[in-house]
Amino acid sequence: MFRMGKRLFENIISGPATRLKPREPFAGERGHIEIDISKCIFCMRCARECPCGCLTVNRAEGTWDIDQFECITCGVCASVCAKHAISMKGSYRKPAEHKKINIYKGTPPAKPNKVEAPAGGKA
Ligand code: SF4
Ligand code: SF4
Repeated sequence: MFRMGKRLFENIISGPATRLKPREPFAGERGHIEIDISKCIFCMRCARECPCGCLTVNRAEGTWDIDQFECITCGVCASVCAKHAISMKGSYRKPAEHKKINIYKGTPPAKPNKVEAPAGGKA
C-alpha cells in the first residue's frame, strides 16, 4: 500500500511520460530514410541486407524503390551503403491515404570495359 501511494505521488509530481504530437524530433529518433540517388552506384547491397524486403534496386533500369509502409526504419540499409547515399531523417513521414512505392531514378555507372588480352598472353 505504501509503495502504491509512493508511486502515485511520484506520478503526480513528475512530468508526463508521453509526448504530445506534433512535437520536435528528439535525439536519436529514427523517423524515416531518404536516399540521395545521385550518390547511388546501384550495387544492390541495401536491398540484399534489408530485413523487410522493402527495397528494390534495378541496375538495368537505374531505379531504386522503397515501400515506406513496410520499412521498420532499422537503419541497416544506411549503415551498409558504402556511398552514404541513404540517411536516416529524424522526422516521421506525413500520413498517407494510399500505399505507394517511392521510385527514384538514377544513373548506374557504366561497366568498365574488359581489358583485352595482350597478344600471346593471358589478361
Ligand atoms: S543506396 Fe547504397 S547500398 Fe543501395 S544500391 Fe545504392 S550505393 Fe548500393
Ligand atoms: S531502414 Fe531497414 S527496413 Fe527500412 S529500408 Fe532500410 S534496411 Fe529496410
